[in-house]
Amino acid sequence: MKYCSHCGQSVELRDIPGDNIQRYQCESCAMIHYQNPKMVVGCLPVYEDKILLCKRAIEPRSGYWNLPAGYLENGESAETGAMREVWEEALAKVEITGVHSLYSIPRINQIYIFFLARLTAPDFGIGEESLDVRLFTEAEIPWQDMAFTSSVHALKRYFEDRKNEVQYTHQGEYPMT
Ligand SMILES: [Zn+2]
Repeated sequence: MKYCSHCGQSVELRDIPGDNIQRYQCESCAMIHYQNPKMVVGCLPVYEDKILLCKRAIEPRSGYWNLPAGYLENGESAETGAMREVWEEALAKVEITGVHSLYSIPRINQIYIFFLARLTAPDFGIGEESLDVRLFTEAEIPWQDMAFTSSVHALKRYFEDRKNEVQYTHQGEYPMT
């Protein structure tokens, strides 16, 4: 950060009384600019024994497959944001059935929440942010062509749980990209 989003003057990294880490503070209006992790929300959309994946049409990792997910917007609940991402990327309506996983990736300041979601019918299409959208059985998942390890982790846990006939909420901290 170089400039104050409030008044446009220069900011400086400073010690703030009562705070234990340095913050960007405006040299002119003294506003403190807090920087916090971004939330990424998404779904594991399930239809029968298949999972809906989207081939990304946008960078980063354009041309690679991913679970439908994206940044949560201000004013949205996590669930609403996750359902919106499924609609935008796969033109599919889902019912959220639970929290599947919560992953922290401190290296890139992101928190991922994936919800388990049910496709009530195999109705989907190719959204603007996607090159292709398909339902995959476990054997068909394109593991070598997945965009991000966050989706790979979530899918592996999902198929493990399904095989063991359990349903856990998974959590962890990952050096993932
Ligand atoms: Zn300022």
